Amino acid sequence: MIYIGNHLSVSKGFLAMGKQASKLGGDTFAFFTRNPRGGKAKQIDPADLEALHQYLSEHHFGTLVAHAPYTMNLCAAKEEVRSFSLDVLADDLERMQQIHHSYYNFHPGSHVGQGPEKGIALIADALNHTLKPEHRTTVLLETMAGKGSEVGRTFEELKSIIDQVALSDQLGVCFDTCHVWDGGYDIVNHLDQVLEEFDRIIGLDRLLAVHLNDSMNPLGSHKDRHQKIGQGEIGAEALMRVVNHPALQGKPFILETPNDDEGYAREIAQVRAWMEQA
Ligand code: FE
Ligand code: FE
Ligand code: ZN
Repeated sequence: MIYIGNHLSVSKGFLAMGKQASKLGGDTFAFFTRNPRGGKAKQIDPADLEALHQYLSEHHFGTLVAHAPYTMNLCAAKEEVRSFSLDVLADDLERMQQIHHSYYNFHPGSHVGQGPEKGIALIADALNHTLKPEHRTTVLLETMAGKGSEVGRTFEELKSIIDQVALSDQLGVCFDTCHVWDGGYDIVNHLDQVLEEFDRIIGLDRLLAVHLNDSMNPLGSHKDRHQKIGQGEIGAEALMRVVNHPALQGKPFILETPNDDEGYAREIAQVRAWMEQA
């Protein structure tokens, strides 16, 4: 079995997210640590967070997946963007000390013309400056579609970041199905081979979470436009094989599809039906 859920808003508090996840049929969820477009993080109410922790264990939730804001670019060319991003990362990891049972996922970054090698070095450098042995979350690098100058489209690039980080035990990868497909990995016809390649290059023990999305665009398009499950170029059958793949069991799967609550409830039910069919 896998855990399934979607992105929820932290604005009504932590316990409210747990309850909302249950209402939609989920047993995990994702949330932005602050406004996805940046901005200051809200002060955490310790009683509310403690109530969530209690709720998660009572309802047998899987690991949650916190998401860094999109404005964070650890390999920006502009020094001020990079230092802002470093502050956000350090502040978020400090907040994650309070939030239990949650990974912290981020987009590696865009090298904006500096080249992937320089980008990789800057990202690793940022992680080396920020990660501390006492951090309890695992930081996930998200597989990217390769839009613009995004770093992390290939498994090799992600591996190269991990290799340059001293505290690499604290790193993992979030496998986004839309992004890997748009990045050129054929999970429709060759899922086993793609995961074998992931294993050979990065190691499947690093694959800790999945973003379950269909894609509006064909293989290798480098577009990053998510589609509802079964309505895109990846399709229901292929996504069902992802959900039921032996290498991915026990992991949190997060839907990032263009949906309202009703749509998410329907997709979560669909994924559960697939799990029972396996
Ligand atoms: Fe993401
Ligand atoms: Fe994603
Ligand atoms: Zn995306």
